[in-house]
Amino acid sequence: MQQLEALTREARELAAPGARAEMGTDAGAREQVIRFAPLQQMQPMTPHETEVARQMQICNACRYCEGFCAVFPAMTKRLSFAKADVNYLANLCHNCGACYHACQYAPPHEFAVNVPQAMAQVRLDTYTEYAWPRAFGALYKRNGLTVAFALALGLASFIALGAVLGGSAFGSAIAGGNFYAIFPHNVLAALFGAVFLFAMLALGVGVTRFLRDISTGEATPGALAEAAHDALTLKYLDGGHGDGCNEADDRFTLARRRFHHLTFYGFMLCFAATAVATLYQYAFGLEAPYPLLSAPVLLGTVGGVSLLAGASGLLWLNLRRDPARTDLRQRPMDRAFIALLIMTSASGLALLAWRETSAMSALLAVHLGAVMALFATMPYGKFAHGIFRSAALVKAAIERRTAKAPATAAD
Ligand code: SF4
Ligand code: SF4
Repeated sequence: MQQLEALTREARELAAPGARAEMGTDAGAREQVIRFAPLQQMQPMTPHETEVARQMQICNACRYCEGFCAVFPAMTKRLSFAKADVNYLANLCHNCGACYHACQYAPPHEFAVNVPQAMAQVRLDTYTEYAWPRAFGALYKRNGLTVAFALALGLASFIALGAVLGGSAFGSAIAGGNFYAIFPHNVLAALFGAVFLFAMLALGVGVTRFLRDISTGEATPGALAEAAHDALTLKYLDGGHGDGCNEADDRFTLARRRFHHLTFYGFMLCFAATAVATLYQYAFGLEAPYPLLSAPVLLGTVGGVSLLAGASGLLWLNLRRDPARTDLRQRPMDRAFIALLIMTSASGLALLAWRETSAMSALLAVHLGAVMALFATMPYGKFAHGIFRSAALVKAAIERRTAKAPATAAD
């Protein structure tokens, strides 16, 4: 009880005029370093991190939102919030908005608690900070709709030009819709393999840096299984009560969880279609195009429809979301990723529908351009959220098994 009173007193002090960190501009926020002793244990913190630490002190005294998501139980294991704690908690948050819509201390209250927005600001900073190569970190802030479309259409034009100059049958209808007559399989495999491997390497290095900094501890099979379950079921998008999270207002909705599931599993089915087609090609010597009822086409069709429906739904929710609880700097990045998913799935389905017509080669170039742009921007866009969040869920699962008393990430 005494501890709770002390925390409440600290929260009031932090909310007092002058105690809140001055938030820098987008350009200068990262460089401005604040020391906030003793609460932040003299660790250098950015203004965004300091703001999350301030709000977590208030939440730790209040604890009203404890059942909403994984962030608040992890918060209660700490009495103070160092840089690593803040980065970990920020990536555990998925901006469902439940705590903002429930909060009695949200603006215009003097405490000005807006956890989803504060967490979102730190999340973007962590992607930038852990990016590999580091110089590419700035791409997170430049990765917008214009860049996505320009990259996809530029790559499509480049691919089409290569096919024309290579003397292929570009622009002609090909019996059976054999697109390897336009782009040889080996060329496609080499091009996409290189871009995909770079994307995986960049994401892998980035998330390894993040995991090292937040000190996960030993990942037991049980902890890994629990984290995988929580990530794959999107457990915390049910709001902790099963009715879902908030979007435009105080009403709960499961729409975000369902659209996320359609998007993720649609993407995985499309990926499986490509993997099975590769197996057919190299292991069994069966060359594309495959019949409509073959495994690669069925997986790709179901995956494409699911991906298109999910990504369109996420775009619709993104356009309606209450801007007060988001980090507006992330909007271009969020929408660019969704737009590339829509472009990839729509062009893939169109390619299947018109694969035996003269439009096939142009549709194929657009589809390949979209897929390549999606992979190329993956490490520097919204896709990183899924990777960093999964890593944070692993730490949360480990902590649930090991942390007996309030701890810090440095422990
Ligand atoms: S978000 Fe608001 S209501 Fe929820 S725990 Fe924090 S201070 Fe309390
Ligand atoms: S926005 Fe949602 S996920 Fe993030 S801290 Fe609040 S309740 Fe948790």
